[in-house]
This record gives sequence, C-alpha cells and structure tokens, in this order.
Amino acid sequence: MNLERVRHKARLLIGRERLVAPAFTYRIENDVAAVACTIGPALEQRVAELFRAGERLLALELDALGNERLFCLAKRALAAIERETRRRGQHVGDERYPGDPGIGIEEQPRVLEMANAAAKGIRSTPGGMLSPVKSMSFVVPLGTTLAKSRGGPCRRCPSRERCASAKR
Ligand code: SF4
Repeated sequence: MNLERVRHKARLLIGRERLVAPAFTYRIENDVAAVACTIGPALEQRVAELFRAGERLLALELDALGNERLFCLAKRALAAIERETRRRGQHVGDERYPGDPGIGIEEQPRVLEMANAAAKGIRSTPGGMLSPVKSMSFVVPLGTTLAKSRGGPCRRCPSRERCASAKR
C-alpha cells in the first residue's frame, strides 16, 4: 500500500473511532504560564493494537498523525496564553519543555501541578514520562520586554517538513 493511502486510512480511523480527544489546561503564576495538553489515550492504544496485529505501516502513520495533532494542540494552547498575556499588557517569550536546558525532566511533576494537569487526566511517571503518552507540558515566560522566536511548537513538530501550515 502506498504511503498516501496509508495516511488516508489512518485519518479515517481517527475520525471513525474517535481516537483524538484534545484537551489543554494552563495557569499563570507571576510571570510564568505552565501548560499541559493531551490528545487522550485512545490513539496510543489503537497504535499498540495495530502493531500487535502486524499492521506496522498503519500503526506508524497513525502514531505520526497523533504527534501532529498534539503539536497543533500545543500551538492552540500557546495562542490562548498569548491572547491572555496581551490583555495583561505583557508578551510571551519562547516556551520551554521539561528536559530542555535549564529545566530538568525532574521538573515535570511541578509543571503539571502548576498547570492543574490532573484535571485533564495527565500525569507523570516517576521517570518524568507523561501519561497518556500523547501529552505534553511546557512553561512560557511572560514579561513586558519579552519576544518569542518564530515557529513556536512547529519548530519541534516531527511533521514540520511535510506540513503546509508550519510556521518556520
Ligand atoms: S508543523 Fe504543522 S502539524 Fe506540526 S504543529 Fe505546526 S501546523 Fe501543526
């Protein structure tokens, strides 16, 4: 099966089986916003099923589409924070993710707590992995003199090269 057909099939699966349940939450404390977002557990469970059934290509494509949806969701969350920050007369800086320089992976639980991630069913394992797997957390600095780089979450999105909407 060619890749386009597999991609199409994966998209149909997402719609038909409602594999994506996007949700995000954020809270602003002082000059930092903490964010958590997820597309829920259904897609990763379906990917695992497909692998077990030997449908490797479809599983990989479904997984890739899940990543796209998650990064796009992070963009939506960031846009909501930007709007709120502008109303406060401030700007946002570049977002940073646990594991980035200056914010260790061990900070994951603190970021989740600050964002009230549990309200969306997002948790951290002791090793700093997120559950559901297709979840993400990050912090955004806020201030009157800050400016963000172009791109936001698109800079890290694995689908950036093939995405027509990528902000470069
Ligand atoms: S590169 Fe495309 S798929 Fe990825 S976050 Fe940006 S707009 Fe979404």
